[in-house]
Amino acid sequence: MKLTILGSGTMMPTQKRHPSAYLLEIAHHKILLDIGHTTIARLIEMGIDLYSIDTIFVSHFHTDHFGDFLPFIHSCFVEDLHHPAKKHQKPLLVLGPKTFQKRWDKLREVFWVEPENYPLRFIEGSQTITLDSLKITLFPIVHVPWFESVGIKIQDHGKTFVYTGDIGGKHPMDELQETVRDADLLLIESSYLASTPNHFSPDQIIELSQVAHVKKTVATHLRDEYIPALKQKFKNHPTIVLAKDKMRIEL
Ligand SMILES: [Zn+2]
Ligand SMILES: [Zn+2]
Repeated sequence: MKLTILGSGTMMPTQKRHPSAYLLEIAHHKILLDIGHTTIARLIEMGIDLYSIDTIFVSHFHTDHFGDFLPFIHSCFVEDLHHPAKKHQKPLLVLGPKTFQKRWDKLREVFWVEPENYPLRFIEGSQTITLDSLKITLFPIVHVPWFESVGIKIQDHGKTFVYTGDIGGKHPMDELQETVRDADLLLIESSYLASTPNHFSPDQIIELSQVAHVKKTVATHLRDEYIPALKQKFKNHPTIVLAKDKMRIEL
């Protein structure tokens, strides 16, 4: 499995960090994990063909995780008209929290009023599905009260990857420990230095990765100004690394 960090930042893009987007290549699948505003530009910049992506996971409906979803689909739709051979072979698989399809319909009402739609297959809410050899579990995440958020766990041939998206400091720790136990790779947010109702803290990341025996943890959703303090926090924890845009991690 290979993880490419497309955007390791938060809502406001900076020169160093774009909003959330990650590409997981696993068992012939290319899964986009979150699609914050600027994701399309970053994919193009890195030479990643939008059509090579067969699955899009959205953890929640904040712009820094969801903003380029409609532009991505609309871009593929228009490109199909010019290059029909390029079409995605089957409906694009779309994974995320409940209400996803309803929100998609509303977005289309505003931004894409033509009657044609793009073939999407929505899977919403906490559940486990199989995709060829992959076992994919969407699990509930406590982030903000306004909508549901989900994390994703992907297992393939004994390897386990987990991405939490944004996660609040009050998320039940024991539940999360069970979800990430013995994971080979955990991608988790670290946007603040102390726990808040909507965001995790570096101390919680250290505790989680130790107690659950996570082999490698990538802390992401980072604000540039906290990097020196985060480096200090994680300096005695060699299994925890800070994400950088365009970083590639292979397992
Ligand atoms: Zn965010
Ligand atoms: Zn958020």
